[in-house]
Order: sequence, then C-alpha cells, then structure tokens
Amino acid sequence: MARVFLSLGSNLGDRLTLLKAAVRGLREIGETRFVGASPLYETEPWESEPGQALDERRWYLNCVVAIETTLSPRDLLERLQALEGALGRARPAGTPESRRFLPRTLDIDILFFGDRVISAPDDLHVPHLLLDQRAFVLRPLADLAPELEHPALYQTVRELLDALDDDHDVRPSEHGARWFED
Ligand code: ADP
Ligand code: MG
Repeated sequence: MARVFLSLGSNLGDRLTLLKAAVRGLREIGETRFVGASPLYETEPWESEPGQALDERRWYLNCVVAIETTLSPRDLLERLQALEGALGRARPAGTPESRRFLPRTLDIDILFFGDRVISAPDDLHVPHLLLDQRAFVLRPLADLAPELEHPALYQTVRELLDALDDDHDVRPSEHGARWFED
C-alpha cells in the first residue's frame, strides 16, 4: 500500500458539492482506501482567463486528500481523470500549458505517491512539479502531513511552506474540518 496525497481544486459551479462528490468518488475507487482530507481553503487564482477582468476571477476551493492504494501511479491517474470527467470537467484540446489557467469544475493532481520519484517526459511527474511553489497546495498539505519529506528536495512539507514565496491569498474556508463527512 502506498500512501498518496492528492490536491483537489474547483473554481466553477457548486464547488463544495463537487469536492464532496470527488471524495465520495475517491472512496469508491477499488484497491484504494480513503484516509482523510484537509480543511478547505478559499484560494486566489494564479491567472485570469484571457480578457477576463481581475475582479471576475473565480476563487478556488482547495484541499488535500490522503489515500492508500495498491494501484500503480499511472492506473491511479487514469481513475482520477475518469473521476474528473464524470464530475463534469471538460478537457479542451491544447497543451497542458494552454489549459492550465482555464476555470475547471474539478482538478485532481497527484502530489506524492509514497516516496516514489517519477519523471516521464510530457507525462506523469511525481512528486507534482509545482507543489513546492504553491501555497494553495502546501497549506492544506501541512494540515495533514507537516513532517512528510519531499523525496527529491529532502525538505519536509513544513519546511517547504516556511520557505515559500507565494503571495497568492489562501484563506481558511467557512466549511469546517469535517466538510467531507456528509
Ligand atoms: P493542471 O493540473 O496542470 O492544471 P491538467 O489537470 O489538465 O492540468 O493536467 C495536465 C496533464 O498533467 C495531464 O495530462 C497529466 O497526465 C499530467 N500530469 C503530470 N503529472 C501529474 C500529476 N502528478 N498529477 C496529475 N496530473 C499530472
Ligand atoms: Mg490536473
């Protein structure tokens, strides 16, 4: 069983309902056990859509979820992408870069997969390549696993968060710590 940390985010539609549905979906993946979820955070988007006014940018609701799985990283990614699809995320054509800042109903990323380090060109990267640069990832991750060590950077989540230089706003949401339990 590998302990896996996932980043979940939504900035379109009924974000709370979507994240609850995502947790329900994660609980239903075979060969996988749900371990827990961080509190939710309201997070400022990194970029606007082309032409979108600054004050129209939709904030994200973000969290981190811990699971255990006997699936391979690639099989897990496939299940996660199927879950994103089932919950309504369209995958428009284009490169990941061109799509990165589009609003999305649900984004699920693999942050850590045990202590595995995977680097497939133009494909799966584990640990997630940007996790050490993103407050919206490190804040909720630190709620669940502050002492977890990054297997390539050799720093703990708490150390990465302390060293982080990210001015984007990350605010605890009003939804409470047990938001995923109903
Ligand atoms: P992003 O998460 O960067 O906003 P997408 O969810 O559309 O954008 O992902 C783009 C691509 O990132 C996917 O095709 C997926 O294969 C790849 N990818 C690479 N590493 C990871 C990872 N650790 N977790 C999830 N997706 C990843
Ligand atoms: Mg993604």
